[in-house]
This record gives sequence, structure tokens and C-alpha cells, in this order.
Amino acid sequence: MSHTLDGISLDPFTLVTIALTLFVLAYFIALSLGGRKKQQKVKKTYTLLKCTACEYSVEREFKEGDYVGKKEGTCPKCDGEMIITAIYVKEEDNSGSASEKIIASK
Ligand SMILES: [Zn+2]
Repeated sequence: MSHTLDGISLDPFTLVTIALTLFVLAYFIALSLGGRKKQQKVKKTYTLLKCTACEYSVEREFKEGDYVGKKEGTCPKCDGEMIITAIYVKEEDNSGSASEKIIASK
């Protein structure tokens, strides 16, 4: 009387193969999910300065203590007074689209 365990039995090799397949599948699922999450948005706050005497205006990154109406420096064109006229946030994502959100403006 012989009993052969063929097909139905799970020998170590089959178990390892299944485990590996599941592991690889899980790995690729995690990769594809993680890749989607990576589309992070970059937020930056800017301050817009304008000359009170001429039309000169300049945009620079927001600094702590900035507020609309604050006087800062002199105009490089006419030596007039520079004043902050707007503070806003620019949002950029990986697709290259940007949106502006004005926090404060005159
Ligand atoms: Zn000026």
C-alpha cells in the first residue's frame, strides 16, 4: 500500500512560492499607493512691496513680522518709500499648476 501526496499537499517549496508571490504583490501595491501620496503640494508665502512714489513693485518671500501697510526700505528706482501692499500664499504641485491665495491686501 503506497500513499503518494501529489498535487494537494503543500510542500515547503510551494509554500515559499506562495509567500514570495504575496510579498511581491504587497510590495507593488504599497509602491503604487505610496507613489500617489508623493504628489505633495509646496506652499510658499510671498509679500508684495510697492513704491509709494512710482509704479515699481517687487515680490519677495514672506518674512516674520510682515503686514500690509508696513514700510520697508526705499525704492531702487526713485528712492521713494516702499510699502507692503499684499501678502499671499502660492501653492504648487507636481503637475506644475499653481494657485494663489491672498491672505491680506490693501
Ligand atoms: Zn519708486
